[in-house]
Amino acid sequence: MKKILTQIGTLNSLMMGDYNATITVGELLKKGDIGIGTYEGLDGEAIILNGVAYDSRADGKTYVMNENDKLPFATVSKFNNNAIEYKISFDDIDQLKEMLEEKLPSKNFFYMIKMEGLFKVRIRSCYKQAKPYQPLYKVACDQREYDFDEEGYVIGVYCPNYVQGMNLAGWHVHFLSKDFRHGGHILKLQGNNINYKINDIDEWNVILPHTEGFESWDLTEDLKEKTKQVEGSSKK
Ligand SMILES: [Zn+2]
Repeated sequence: MKKILTQIGTLNSLMMGDYNATITVGELLKKGDIGIGTYEGLDGEAIILNGVAYDSRADGKTYVMNENDKLPFATVSKFNNNAIEYKISFDDIDQLKEMLEEKLPSKNFFYMIKMEGLFKVRIRSCYKQAKPYQPLYKVACDQREYDFDEEGYVIGVYCPNYVQGMNLAGWHVHFLSKDFRHGGHILKLQGNNINYKINDIDEWNVILPHTEGFESWDLTEDLKEKTKQVEGSSKK
């Protein structure tokens, strides 16, 4: 079966502060049953797993979202659970990303990963932003961080370098605990004998947002360095 990655919005418009949602959870789940993203107003970190949309918010709790809730940015696919299962051990998130990248048949395609096991993880979640929205690279300090040592899932998307600005180049991973009570955007990660499956994806479907920001802004600024700061940094 052909694998399609569907993306809502673009990373640069999100970075520039367009947190206006353009798709409902109900519509998104028709496009995929696994993935990551964020909700309207940057209200928490989205994790989509087994066709359920979760929101891990800055209050440290994780909520099951309903079909009318909306998202400005998300990346999803339909996961093939029949993919080969592998095992991996790693001491930190950078090591994991490197090990996974080395195993990819090509760095110029997209991949979706689902990992399962006992993780030592530090996650962050953003606080919901008030209008008028400020650029993400300015509000990224407006976040809470939590440490967990528990069983759960790591859901991740790999995007090739050439889509930088459209989406996050390289691996972008979110955590969700097995009891679905904790989760968020991963800053630190450690795991032993973690099971994982990867899906190769060679079709990329982007749904562009009809928002005031997206329609009028100049989206050509190179936000690579600012994006790095936002996506990877722990404030602790
Ligand atoms: Zn994230």
